[in-house]
Parts: sequence; C-alpha cells; structure tokens
Amino acid sequence: MTDTYQTLICPACGKAMEKVFLEDQGFIVDVCLDGCGGIWFDNRELKEVDEKDDNILELTEAYKGKTFSKVDKSDTRECPLCHKKMVKNCVSAKQEISIDECYTCGGKFLDYNELEQMRAQYDTEAERIEDIKEIAKDSVKMELILESILRKDKF
Ligand SMILES: [Zn+2]
Ligand SMILES: [Zn+2]
Repeated sequence: MTDTYQTLICPACGKAMEKVFLEDQGFIVDVCLDGCGGIWFDNRELKEVDEKDDNILELTEAYKGKTFSKVDKSDTRECPLCHKKMVKNCVSAKQEISIDECYTCGGKFLDYNELEQMRAQYDTEAERIEDIKEIAKDSVKMELILESILRKDKF
C-alpha cells in the first residue's frame, strides 16, 4: 500500500478525489465523486477488486444516487502521483476496456463503469487466466510467423 493521505486530483476531470476505504481489501481508493466518477488504484490494488465476488460495497455506496460528468476517454492523462503521462492499456481480450496505467508507480485509473465492466467479464480467476493464456498464445504465434518470414529473407 502506497497510500498517502494527500488529496489526489482526478486525472480525467481535474476535480479533487475522495478517499473510500474498502474494508474487505483493507485499503483506500481515490474516487472522483464530485466529477467524473473515475477511480484511482495504487499498484496492485486493482486485482483485489476486479472479480465479481470481491466485495466493494463501500464503493457501491459512495456511487449511489450520484451522476457523473462525461469525460473524453481518448485524452492522454497524467498520473496524479508522479505527473508522468499514463499509457492506455487494454485489459481484456473479450471486451474493449482500456484503462490508464502509470508505468512509473504502477497506478491505474479507471473511468466510471469500467470497473463494473471488468468485474462482469469473468466469473472466476481461472476464467481470467484462460483468457490471458489465449492472448499470450496468439502473440507467440505471431512471433513464430515473423521469425519464419525473416528467415526466408535471409536465404
Ligand atoms: Zn474525475
Ligand atoms: Zn505514477
């Protein structure tokens, strides 16, 4: 846990984020409750909450009855902690969910609803691992194809 008690500024809409303590996980997440509804996760926190069975009641409660401003998801965003530019990463093969990731501190920013979309994807950790294996298999295949093309060029 790298949680400091400083208030983070939302990388998507610039509003001050609020701290929500997740009791089951035992850590605090920063949520943009007065702006876009986005969530900031410190390094490795995301995997504690991205399955359907993970209890995130406190987050659901914090979101209840609120409406959030729309933000442009294609904007390049800056890490609220290190102020470096974040990189957009696809987090699944099944669905097009892309999150912002800071390669310096490992933090991740999810737009409103992206966490729910992620949680809705896999019923179990095993399913997710299978999915990741599929993606890896494809990239190995690609490498082999590229290798054979390169070899042909040489001879
Ligand atoms: Zn925001
Ligand atoms: Zn960072």
